[in-house]
Amino acid sequence: MGRIVGIDLGTTNSVIGVLEAGRPFVIANAEGSRTTPSVIGYSKDSELLVGQQARRQLVLNPKNTFSNLKRFIGRTWNELNENSLNVAYTVRANEQECVRVTCPITEREYAPEELTGSIIRKLIDDAEKYLEESIDSAVVTVPAYFNDSQRQATRDAALLAGIKVERILNEPTAAALAYGFDKSSSSRVLVFDLGGGTFDISLLRISNGVFDVKATSGDTQLGGNDFDQKIVEWLADDFYKQYEIDLRRDRQSLQRLSEAAEKAKQELSGLNITPISLPFIATGSNGPLHIETKLDRKKFEFLCRDLIDRLSKPVEIALSDSGWTAEDINDVVLVGGSTRMPMVQQLIRTIVPITPSQTVNPDEVVAVGAAVQAGIISGELRDLLLNDVTPLSLGLETVGGLMKVLIPRNTPIPVRQADVFSTSEANQSSVEINVWQGERQLANDNKSLGKFRLSGIPPAPRGVPQVQVAFDIDANGLLQVSATDRTTGRKQSVSINGGSNLNENEVSKLINEAREKADLDRKKRASIDQRNNALTLVAQAERRLRDISLEFGPYAAERQQRSVEVALRDVQEFLDNNDLAELDLAVSSLQEALFGLNRRISAGRRSESNPIQGIKNTFGSLKDELFSDDYWDDDPWDYNPNQERRDRDYQSRDLDRWDNDFYN
Ligand code: ADP
Ligand code: MG
Repeated sequence: MGRIVGIDLGTTNSVIGVLEAGRPFVIANAEGSRTTPSVIGYSKDSELLVGQQARRQLVLNPKNTFSNLKRFIGRTWNELNENSLNVAYTVRANEQECVRVTCPITEREYAPEELTGSIIRKLIDDAEKYLEESIDSAVVTVPAYFNDSQRQATRDAALLAGIKVERILNEPTAAALAYGFDKSSSSRVLVFDLGGGTFDISLLRISNGVFDVKATSGDTQLGGNDFDQKIVEWLADDFYKQYEIDLRRDRQSLQRLSEAAEKAKQELSGLNITPISLPFIATGSNGPLHIETKLDRKKFEFLCRDLIDRLSKPVEIALSDSGWTAEDINDVVLVGGSTRMPMVQQLIRTIVPITPSQTVNPDEVVAVGAAVQAGIISGELRDLLLNDVTPLSLGLETVGGLMKVLIPRNTPIPVRQADVFSTSEANQSSVEINVWQGERQLANDNKSLGKFRLSGIPPAPRGVPQVQVAFDIDANGLLQVSATDRTTGRKQSVSINGGSNLNENEVSKLINEAREKADLDRKKRASIDQRNNALTLVAQAERRLRDISLEFGPYAAERQQRSVEVALRDVQEFLDNNDLAELDLAVSSLQEALFGLNRRISAGRRSESNPIQGIKNTFGSLKDELFSDDYWDDDPWDYNPNQERRDRDYQSRDLDRWDNDFYN
């Protein structure tokens, strides 16, 4: 089995980790950062940008830059709340009510999975470079409170990046793994994970390498972004009151407001008051308008009071589901950037009155845990056992639209549960199996995971046929449903993937497309590199010719100078005609010609008879003879790279010198 990496695919930031010699660690990306912004964009030239590069163009190119995609993954249009639609790019529903992201510059629509796949691809590419080996599988984390569709969609995103998902792991469980994998004592731990867009809470018992998740709860539409949003609203409302201009209607202003809000929020984690300055945010009838204001922590906390209220509920539910009280908790693990906010830390302390653990880095702990899980799967880490639970109840719709729960929330997984159902009408020949996930009593208030029909039921009075429906949840938290008519033995079984934004055909189509595109991109990049290298060489050659002419005169090494000029013209011509096939050859001729020229000049320099004087006064073809040929008895122009080692030694020494001479 090849190496498996661990990926924390965050709303705001993503991190990749790996196990090396039994220890998990985080791999820095190509830019040198250990976290990669979960942002994808297309530049003005339709070039794909991922991470920091994309983040940088958020304000200037808001329509073609996509952040917070995790809010949309595996969600249908009608499940989105107004807050999640608060993004500077365009999202819309397609015919199947699936979320699609519109990108004007590429004139295409993307499924959130597709764009998210690009983030995974970048993480993998950078890790491959670092590890110097190819990677084809990963453990990918999701919020514990993600439903089946969101999990499926995350798996699809990885698939689109060419990565097989070995395990979908819950983020707080991953954090607990990172926290406890090398501890032998036994403890009850509360993991509180508040990131950019999601909130998760898990209670675990960790004992001698066995991790038992007791309960999990959360809110997949609550995170640091909502705190930013409060500041945005406050600023925009205030501005509207003053100037009757709604800054939220302009994408660029909205993006600038959001960035300033996030910055202010982060500063208020350490300071009591922070200035907010947004010059030229709009234009009024009397010219440009600016925002110059201050926000203090008290005001900020007042603005966010309802968010803080929303945070306590899931903790209470998880505690009550686990059967533990707050006093039973031995340690609190804080995960996610938003737990740095003093008001959040205070809230946690009012629920569990202990000082949170400081041993883990809240930004990296999830990826570290994913790497540990990868190590468990690959067999590198032994004696660790993880027992996770399913976050939400799963059931069927029965007569009257009621939800009949087959697997209650917080049931340990993997699990199989079956029940027998019957028909509601006489001679009913088929039944519809409608699968739902959620905690509400009426099926319709929950999330539909999909439906299928079991047909061919022999005629019988109502209530007589016996249809056994079985739910299987695997270790990834993914569901498979089957229905069997007990009389005929007829069986119908489906993996539920109705909730994923892409069906199987679309996924395989996109994978093929991505493969082709990767090839094309590689070729495109190679030809760009080829052209750039040629251009650099042309510039160097021109400079060198000019310098030599100035220093030694136009005929100092005439034959070599001409050769360079001829080769230069060739390269220039192939560049102009974009003839890349010929370009390579011309480039190596130019390199050789330059080499010959440099060697000639350097041999001249080495000559004791002060050749500079001699060359300057020399005309015509005679001047070549004025060089001292102590070191080279062949003509430099006929340079043969396979000549003797002695020669090569000299050349390489000289090359070094030339490098310093004129490549800088
Ligand atoms: P995710 O897992 O969703 O990608 P992260 O754990 O990376 O999220 O947290 C990102 C969120 O944390 C953002 O909303 C960011 O503004 C917030 N954040 C980061 N640092 C701070 C801080 N010092 N104070 C308050 N919020 C912070
Ligand atoms: Mg996170």
